[in-house]
Amino acid sequence: MAPNSSDANGVLFESDAATPDMAIPNTPVMKADNYPKKFVWRNIIAFAYLHIAAIYGGYLFLFSAKWQTDVFAYILYVMSGLGITAGAHRLWAHKSYKAKWPLRLILVIFNTLAFQDSAIDWARDHRMHHKYSETDADPHNATRGFFFSHIGWLLVRKHPELKKKGKGLDLSDLYADPILRFQKKYYMILMPIACFVLPTVIPVYGWGETWLNAYFVAAMFRYAFILNVTWLVNSAAHKWGDKPYDKSIQPSENISVAIFALGEGFHNYHHTFPWDYKTAELGNNKINFTTTFINFFARFGWAYDLKTVSDEIVQSRVKRTGDGTHPLWGWGDKDHSKEEMDAAIRINPKDE
Ligand SMILES: [Zn+2]
Ligand SMILES: [Zn+2]
Repeated sequence: MAPNSSDANGVLFESDAATPDMAIPNTPVMKADNYPKKFVWRNIIAFAYLHIAAIYGGYLFLFSAKWQTDVFAYILYVMSGLGITAGAHRLWAHKSYKAKWPLRLILVIFNTLAFQDSAIDWARDHRMHHKYSETDADPHNATRGFFFSHIGWLLVRKHPELKKKGKGLDLSDLYADPILRFQKKYYMILMPIACFVLPTVIPVYGWGETWLNAYFVAAMFRYAFILNVTWLVNSAAHKWGDKPYDKSIQPSENISVAIFALGEGFHNYHHTFPWDYKTAELGNNKINFTTTFINFFARFGWAYDLKTVSDEIVQSRVKRTGDGTHPLWGWGDKDHSKEEMDAAIRINPKDE
């Protein structure tokens, strides 16, 4: 068993699992103390400005900007989204697949465009989120409420428990990658260029957009939009939705979030099987664009060693810990045994 797993709430990697259907043996303990909130005013002011600017940017997106700028902002949203979902999340935080350096370079550029801190820092916070889910050591502990898990966690000082337990986290695999080290070292130069300067300059010189439209639409509105979409995975997908895989945890299957988060809303599955590169059982559906992106690069070997969970393991886990909402294995499915069907009480039966 992995070190510290006795006080951890969630499985982080496949090796943390201690049961045949990939769970840890202990029941999750969800808790939050009344740790006084120490405000970080610099962040409060920055996020307040960003959101006011983004609302104005949304207005300009609809009524003022050129169509090329709107399309450009949309493309940047998808690129920055993939920098988080396919990069920081599935590749770096969870090691759910491997990537050759050209793909890692693409993902690190996308990730810098997203401005959610360096991929190393993002992956560190996210590993804490899975390992100590819904406790004081979870950076966006959802038991402290929707607002805290959405944006509030970035407006206050970190909980001391997070700092204490964070020291035991192994990040050596991330620091071993020169591309990630380079991004972290030069983050305060690279990030403003990728997230704000280029998205503003390109529309102005590319197709004669005004500075005002370019800045508020392609930089501010686009940045705030993908930021909130990412946060919804921590807030909404930890609150609303079914729990077909494990009913003892808060993360839920939230399709509305998945649509905007490029496939990252199937959160009950993801917290149950975090090393699955699809972050969902039905990974190849149209909603899961991140999986399509990884599959595309897997075709010519830039993405490889893609890990996924077998049907048998999913099925046994669904039966043991699910809340009964799983859409498969209903009446008459291929796995439904004849004896069980014959033995069932059927009222007013009619076989077509
Ligand atoms: Zn989560
Ligand atoms: Zn995750």
